[in-house]
Amino acid sequence: MKTEFIIEAALAIQQTILANESTLESLDREIGDGDHYINMKRGATTVAEMQADLASLKPDEALNKIGLKLLSTIGGASGPLLASFFMSMAKVLKENGDESNLKIAAAFAGGVQAIIQRGKAGLGEKTMLDVLIPVSNEFVLQATQNNDIKLICAKLIQTAEQGMLSTKDLIATKGRAAGLGERAIGHIDPGAKSCQLMIETVCHLLL
Ligand code: ADP
Ligand code: MG
Ligand code: MG
Repeated sequence: MKTEFIIEAALAIQQTILANESTLESLDREIGDGDHYINMKRGATTVAEMQADLASLKPDEALNKIGLKLLSTIGGASGPLLASFFMSMAKVLKENGDESNLKIAAAFAGGVQAIIQRGKAGLGEKTMLDVLIPVSNEFVLQATQNNDIKLICAKLIQTAEQGMLSTKDLIATKGRAAGLGERAIGHIDPGAKSCQLMIETVCHLLL
């Protein structure tokens, strides 16, 4: 992995978030407090503006810096969770290296574990984890079986999409939507949608 790619991905993610304003805004209005787009936009813009500061850093240092910055900028439930993803991913990269798809997959999995620990949620609770856990598992599986980044990315795009759609029929047991009970059924989770969009965006850069 190269820091150049992290910067390219950050800029692409910013564009994707901005292009999905109405989707993200309305999903969080339906089952949350309506601020998910604003939170994600603030985070994505902040990271995009860090471009010059990140350029001279190693990939793990860049991801750690992004995480630290997000901690103080995104806010909401998703802010600290996404921040811990980047900081933990950075930690695994620093310890294990980043010179294979499998090592990057393992670092991604470390980031997802940090979200699980911090948010005390798991699969099926109608959160971003319904995208991140299956994507993380698929990433490790694919990277173990083959070294074709295009094939891996195509699979991850599919897995993210399925995970995002799976939140529609779920009752939320974590986060703001947990208070809605059955009324949350029929609505996609906003954090799952934004994570699916970010994964799709990064994977498209590699296709
Ligand atoms: P807030 O809910 O504080 O307004 P956001 O709207 O930015 O924050 O983010 C809401 C998203 O955060 C939800 O859609 C969900 O995906 C995610 N989320 C909330 N709580 C948790 C949790 N405990 N674990 C994982 N993700 C969570
Ligand atoms: Mg919200
Ligand atoms: Mg909020």
